[in-house]
Amino acid sequence: MTKMLDRDNLIKWLKEEDSDKVSELYREAFNVKLATIGPEVYLRGLIEISNRCRKNCLYCGIRASNQHPVRYEIGEEDVIRSAQFALDAGYGSIVIQGGERRDRQFIDKISKLLEKIVSMRPKDGSQMRLGVTLSLGEQPLSVYKEWFNAGAHRYLLRIESSTKELYEKIHPKDSLHRFEDRIEALHSLREAGYQVGTGVMIGLPFQNEEHLADDLLFFKSLDIDMCGMGPYLEHSETPLYQYRDLLPDMKRRFELSLRMVALLRLMMNDINIAATTAMQAIDPLGREKAIMAGANVMMPNLTLAQVREEYSIYQNKPGVGEDAEISSSLIEGRLKNMNLPIGYNRWGDSIHFSKRKER
Ligand code: SAH
Ligand code: SF4
Repeated sequence: MTKMLDRDNLIKWLKEEDSDKVSELYREAFNVKLATIGPEVYLRGLIEISNRCRKNCLYCGIRASNQHPVRYEIGEEDVIRSAQFALDAGYGSIVIQGGERRDRQFIDKISKLLEKIVSMRPKDGSQMRLGVTLSLGEQPLSVYKEWFNAGAHRYLLRIESSTKELYEKIHPKDSLHRFEDRIEALHSLREAGYQVGTGVMIGLPFQNEEHLADDLLFFKSLDIDMCGMGPYLEHSETPLYQYRDLLPDMKRRFELSLRMVALLRLMMNDINIAATTAMQAIDPLGREKAIMAGANVMMPNLTLAQVREEYSIYQNKPGVGEDAEISSSLIEGRLKNMNLPIGYNRWGDSIHFSKRKER
């Protein structure tokens, strides 16, 4: 039923009011995933390494100007401990995410950590080594290369919105927040050799279905390897909060997010698509629903319970106060209940990426 996914059709799907048709869309996306990349859900242990950030994105709770969060940086030993947990739990991969920083000390710390992490092995004596995704904002090509050479092989940098005018409405108008720089950073990531992931927030003020359709077409034109998208969740300590009355309700933001996942799966069959935590913030089964609509990656939070609260990019983030064991066993339990197999001890790399390499 979804043979033609041109701009008009994408907009139509995003606006579709017939819930039976939309359920059919999810089923079709799930089946395409089964047929192309298989049923496995890959887990990446998420380590939120620091909430220090030089930027001031107008939507984000840890923006530099917000005085409320206590600023932290996880020490090397604790990062290694979390990585070892992921390795022993059979996750296969971790994601190191944090605010954007360009100081040498931080850059070196990441490089050093990467070297250590890729040399780690599980306690059971197997030769498995962790796959590592980074999500540390815009960096110069030389830094992207340095981290790639130290062992990272995937990078997430959301474009946030692929429409320049909308991007500029949700970021300060200064030299740190240029749309063109963000695009260039995505190209640098590819040049450095990474599997490149991007994504957008869904349900932003001033955003409509046309913008979202253009986001999907942007992902396709950039030939991305991975995607992480999720609902925008307003944060009272940010400038964008003043537009909260313009937002679609939570249910709509959640549904739009599921549709974006399903449509992208139909457009790009073999990429990795994340079922994001922000979806779970709206619906306790949000991530599982995203998997049923075509996503294939989940990121259980391994950040130490003591600092989780301070990494509140958005409010009411689920799992604050849980420790790694709890977050992880909850996810694994739910997936098992749904008969969704977990891709243990595998990197779960983007098949789209390996196919491009072969060409
Ligand atoms: N500093 C890095 C990575 C950490 S932020 C970067 O910005 O790329 C990770 C993601 O959190 C951002 O890309 C953004 O899409 C998301 N985010 C920030 N504030 C949010 C909010 N209020 N609601 C939903 N997602 C948000
Ligand atoms: Fe910093 Fe990322 Fe938040 Fe922007 S979205 S303020 S870069 S942590």
